[in-house]
Amino acid sequence: MANPPAEAWEVMKRSKIKRSPVDWALQYLWNLPEISVVLNGMNSLQMLNENCDSAGRSGVSSLQEEDLNIIGDLIKIYRKKILVPCTSCKYCLPCPSGVNIPQNFAILNNVALEKSNVRKWLNKRDYKKMANSPKKLNQTKSNGNASLCINCGICLEKCTQEINIPNELKNVHLILKKGKKISDIYKDK
Ligand code: SF4
Ligand code: SF4
Repeated sequence: MANPPAEAWEVMKRSKIKRSPVDWALQYLWNLPEISVVLNGMNSLQMLNENCDSAGRSGVSSLQEEDLNIIGDLIKIYRKKILVPCTSCKYCLPCPSGVNIPQNFAILNNVALEKSNVRKWLNKRDYKKMANSPKKLNQTKSNGNASLCINCGICLEKCTQEINIPNELKNVHLILKKGKKISDIYKDK
């Protein structure tokens, strides 16, 4: 939610209450009675303050019907646009071949979400920066790209989202390196 696509911005603009994209996501979670704790990555004091502010305005069943309609429309946009439903939980790591599985999926999803060709190109450049051979692997931080997957299957049972990781990694490489069109591979997107 931190970098929403243009369609999502349009939906959020409809709301009388102005919220940041992250605030929408947090309010959605805290509105649900079954959620007691939200773990949200923060890497600056500003993010910490914004999240505390958001928590201070939250509460179970605090969202109005209008808010829930907006969230429903946002969910539809994300479901349609996101190619691989990876949540970056990292339970599939480490990969014995050094593939940074969630990073590969995040780059692919970012390319799919982005309308601007420049931003698409920047995301594809991130893929190029990853290691494409065992020699280039960073020993302390997993940085392998999708091409290093040897289809061992170790990650499959660890994935919390039941993603067919080796298959999806093949798609990542076909799109980000071999120039295949997203629509050639993900027919419903
Ligand atoms: S199937 Fe591929 S990504 Fe999964 S653990 Fe094996 S080499 Fe790594
Ligand atoms: S376990 Fe599945 S959802 Fe979690 S990071 Fe790995 S691929 Fe993504």
